[in-house]
Amino acid sequence: MSPMARRKGLPATGTLVRTEDRSRVLTGIAHGALIRGMKQVIALLIALSVALPANAARLRQERHDYLDANLRAIFYHELGHALIDVMKLPIFGQEEDAADVLSVFLIDALFDNDVAVEMAYHTATGFLGEAKNSGGVEPAYWDVHGPDLQRYYTFVCLFYGAKPDLRRNVARDLELPEPRQATCRDEYEQARESWGEVIKRLYENGPGSSIRFLADHRVDEYGRFTAHALEQMIDEMNAEMSLPKRVLVRVEECGTANAFYDGKTREIIMCTEFARYLHDLAPNR
Ligand SMILES: [Zn+2]
Repeated sequence: MSPMARRKGLPATGTLVRTEDRSRVLTGIAHGALIRGMKQVIALLIALSVALPANAARLRQERHDYLDANLRAIFYHELGHALIDVMKLPIFGQEEDAADVLSVFLIDALFDNDVAVEMAYHTATGFLGEAKNSGGVEPAYWDVHGPDLQRYYTFVCLFYGAKPDLRRNVARDLELPEPRQATCRDEYEQARESWGEVIKRLYENGPGSSIRFLADHRVDEYGRFTAHALEQMIDEMNAEMSLPKRVLVRVEECGTANAFYDGKTREIIMCTEFARYLHDLAPNR
């Protein structure tokens, strides 16, 4: 098993990442000029927030929620890799699939139904965006990850299967075909019997500080958004549960839109570029 397991199989060329905007903004600006510039930007943002019509503000909020939900889903996926490693969990199949299952399991288990449904729509949109972003190129069937569209349908199926009576609209809106709908309740039941037992053990360990977060303040605005979202998630999890070994979470520039778990150092790395990439995939941008 490779020590690095990525959420997705993006090319390592960084071609999807546009970091030049940030470097243009930050390089060569004197401190005083930066502060003056920031004050002007803040004044502009205040003026804009007053002037923006309500639907634009709503769109902005939706963008925020979309990014937040997708970052959570990605973090839960990477946590799956971390748990498989530190708890020496047996996996009978693709590790990437098992990590995806944990992600959807936690979205369902940790949130009230209304919140979870909203997160599921956003996360499903993220998977669809990634599938469409391939620009008609045939999926990399050789990759350790399943094709994006298959991951999308499995995500929707498990989420629907967790509470089928409450989520018929979700299955319909997200166009889950009926033949697959028929197996979702059982598929979710398997997820609950496997990951559910693991998560129960973590809760039984009680609160602690087994998930550590290391902030790098030099990251760009997408990195800061990621760090803020992660810090909140980690606080919530540490307040309720403990892993048997310490896992470190870091947000850093990687040169490519990615997130991965490194088993050698027991670290989850969330690349700042991933949030930017997800943002660029968002509908109605
Ligand atoms: Zn992965």
